[in-house]
Amino acid sequence: MENFDDWRWQLRNRIRTPEGLRKYFKNLTEDEEKGLSLVVKQFPIGVTPYYLNLADPEDPSCPVRRQIIPTYSEIDPKVQTSCDPNALEEEGQIPHLTHRYPDRALVTLTTMCPVYCRHCMRKRKVGKPERAITEEEFRPIWDYIKRNTQIREVLISGGDPLVLSTEKLAYYIREIKKIDHIEVIRIGTRTPVILPQRFYDEDLLRFLEEVSPVWVVTHFNHPKEITEEVKTAVRNIRKTGNPILNQTVLLKGINDSPLTMEELFRKLIAIGVKPYYLFHCDPIYGVVHFRTPIEVGLKIMSHLRGRLSGLAQPVYALDLPGGKGKVVLSPQYLLKREGKKHYFRDYTGEVVEYEF
Ligand SMILES: *Cc1c(COP(=O)(O)O)cnc(C)c1O
Ligand code: SF4
Repeated sequence: MENFDDWRWQLRNRIRTPEGLRKYFKNLTEDEEKGLSLVVKQFPIGVTPYYLNLADPEDPSCPVRRQIIPTYSEIDPKVQTSCDPNALEEEGQIPHLTHRYPDRALVTLTTMCPVYCRHCMRKRKVGKPERAITEEEFRPIWDYIKRNTQIREVLISGGDPLVLSTEKLAYYIREIKKIDHIEVIRIGTRTPVILPQRFYDEDLLRFLEEVSPVWVVTHFNHPKEITEEVKTAVRNIRKTGNPILNQTVLLKGINDSPLTMEELFRKLIAIGVKPYYLFHCDPIYGVVHFRTPIEVGLKIMSHLRGRLSGLAQPVYALDLPGGKGKVVLSPQYLLKREGKKHYFRDYTGEVVEYEF
């Protein structure tokens, strides 16, 4: 296809309707069929032609397919139980800014993503509608960061900030870099995985080189996602002098096996991407069917330890509800457990009870 390598073409030609997905996937399961007709009313769907091509049209257990086709489980009241009602409601006084840890602030520049992942923990915030912030909305964010001199790092996320034009993205990053106490810029983006063509764009690569170092943190979940296109994208980013890290989410039926994780992390360090976090899936409405017990993650971590290079070891972590922050999951950090009640020490040293 003529424009397949053009990221704008990929975005324009995203499959965003149930009919579009039905054309590609034969023999839909009942759960998928029902998902296509019912889930789309609550959660957005969307996939780039590139990422769709990685999905198996015949096999419902395909890990890529499971990340893009909605299933009825996403809204089944029998499945979506014990969700955290306070999840994601932690944005502060300034819209599109979350300042949880003293030295880091998170800015979300757009609600749009190239692919709407079924397991997205920000599901209620992305894609509905697709909207980028305006320069007027950016001003109070900038002022806040400028005023709060303890902030050293700005984490730019979304949605996916790399769906913005290079010009817009460059504007925001250059503005943030004008603030003296900002030492680190981090971009959270899934484009290297689902839209690697974004990094064939010479203008973007030139800009990334100009602002280097920017820490690019991406989101690979399965070894199948590491294609030739991805390798090219990663090589191009690395040539601009910017480090790439990865966050994986532990997902039932997608990557919840020690061997899959081992292969994923081996392949990531082979292409120059450092596994950073392995996140336990949060109890958020719409993603509960992807959750595993903590034991599954702990077992994966002990499988990796001793088998894999230290370079390939992520930190297994859980986001505590109520903005309490991330805690590392290892037997040392889980202070105590009584049935469903878990006790953790949060980043401030306080003991937090978390029932799930
Ligand atoms: C995860 C997160 C960060 C970054 O945390 P790190 O441990 O530095 O990766 C910053 N702010 C918020 C609100 C977050 O959720
Ligand atoms: S790319 Fe990230 S933010 Fe966007 S839908 Fe996927 S998981 Fe959610």
